[in-house]
Order: sequence, then C-alpha cells, then structure tokens
Amino acid sequence: MNKWNLIVDVAKCNNCNNCTMVMKDEYVGNEFPGYSAPQPKEGHEWITIDRHIRGNAPMVDVTYVPRTCNHCDNAPCVAAGKGAVTKREDAVVIIDPRQAKGRKDLVDACPYGAIWWNEELQLPQHWTFDAHLLDAGWTTTRSAQACATGALRVVKLSDEAMAAKAIAEKLSVLQRELGTRPRVYYRGLEAVQTCFLGGNVAARGKDGLLDNVEGATVEVTLDQGRRIESTKTDAYGDFKIDGLEAVVSEYRVLVHHPELGKAEAFGTLFPSLYIGTLELG
Ligand code: SF4
Ligand code: SF4
Repeated sequence: MNKWNLIVDVAKCNNCNNCTMVMKDEYVGNEFPGYSAPQPKEGHEWITIDRHIRGNAPMVDVTYVPRTCNHCDNAPCVAAGKGAVTKREDAVVIIDPRQAKGRKDLVDACPYGAIWWNEELQLPQHWTFDAHLLDAGWTTTRSAQACATGALRVVKLSDEAMAAKAIAEKLSVLQRELGTRPRVYYRGLEAVQTCFLGGNVAARGKDGLLDNVEGATVEVTLDQGRRIESTKTDAYGDFKIDGLEAVVSEYRVLVHHPELGKAEAFGTLFPSLYIGTLELG
C-alpha cells in the first residue's frame, strides 16, 4: 500500500508564502463534506513558515521552515479523538468535522500545535493533506503545486520505499523523540539544529593597517578537546565552522600562519557566534 508523504527542503524555502496563500484560497469559506469544514478568515495558519536566524553581524544566516500537520503514523490526536480523528489507509489523518464538534481538547492533543480551534463552528481543524483533491485524482497538494522553488514535494510510496528514501536523501522529521512518526520529512534541518562558530583573521601590514589573511589555519577545540575542527580562512580572511552541536560549550580558537604568526581566542559557544577579528602576531 502506497502512502502520502510531504518532503520539505528547507534550503529551497524563501518565505514567499505562496503555500500559505493557496491554503487560505482552498479552505477559507469552503466546505468539503467528510474532509473539512470551512477555515475561518482569520486566526488559523494550517501551514506556517518559521524563521530561524543564526549568528551575529556580519555572519548571519536565515532558514525558513514550513510547518503543518505531520499526518503522524502514531498520532496523539488519533488516540485522543476516540473515533473523531482517523488515520486512513493512505496515511492521511482526518478530523471528522461532525464527530469532532465541541472537542476543544483535541487542540492540546497535538504536540506540534497543528490543530486550530474554530470558535464559530466549535471545531478543531487541521490541514487534511488536501485529501478531497487526492481522492479526486490529484497527485500533489495545492501548496506543493504553488511552491515555485520546489521546497515542497509530495510523494506516494510504500513505507519501505519511504524509509529508504529518507536514508538516501538524509531526511529527518520534527521532534523525532516524541515517537509520533511524522509523514512530513525535512531535508536540511541541520541548518536550524546546529551551531556555527565564525570569525575573521587579519595581520598588520608595513603601513600599520590590518589586512585580511587568506589561508590561515584555524583550529577550534570545544570543551577541552571533546571536539576538534579545523579549516582555512577564505580570501576575505573569514572562517566558519558549521554543524556544531547546539549546546553550551567552551571553545578555544587557535589560528596560525607560517609567516604571519599566531592568535587565539576563548569563550562560550551557544547559540551560533561570530567572534570578530583575530590579529596575527
Ligand atoms: S511556497 Fe515554497 S518557497 Fe514559498 S514559503 Fe511555501 S514552502 Fe517556502
Ligand atoms: S501533527 Fe498533530 S494533528 Fe497532525 S497527525 Fe500529528 S498529532 Fe495529529
């Protein structure tokens, strides 16, 4: 049995919000009997784009992470729903608009905050994976169709094929530790789950002015040797060591250049950090 999955490539998301707009276009004021009641004009975000910023000027990066219902295979909302929330054979989770009436408790059943309360209709609501369209023969969702960068991809695969794809493409899920087994997979989440340490290396020229140094060796030691990384400065004298564990760590940076000398710096890393210019001498 093939099942639906959404793959989000965060490196391709530019926060254009086409997906959020088509979600509104599809659901606000529109009823799809057996699937969903109309979404209210305001207050619901069935897909949201989270913004994660790392570092400090001038070394800053921004990553956008679209979030929506994960259509979990081990969904707490299904367990709490007692028949009002069901998991279809194709993996789509549906909150029944008739049976779920008055079930405000279901909003808290979702650990991802993906269930929204419709006060007027007294209904919990979420994104249905556009099940009404899939059942009409669509092979993708409106949000994926509207995503011009290809950040959203819909695939229908067997569990085994999806597991193999997740390994091959290095996909991960949000808060795996919850054990909910999401069917929304992410590529590139390490951009928000890790830290970087960056800086600049310069040396004084004969004129007494600081010049950026290319090709200096930079060695970073974390927590007295727990992890050692090294790199070289680029043409602007900059270095950046990325993918560091996102925990508070004591760092030591040692920079050296065969002709221009050495420099070092110490401090605490977390979150990501640009440590400024180290002057060789
Ligand atoms: S449409 Fe695509 S690129 Fe635009 S915000 Fe949504 S996921 Fe990101
Ligand atoms: S993300 Fe939340 S609402 Fe969606 S299936 Fe999982 S527990 Fe249910």
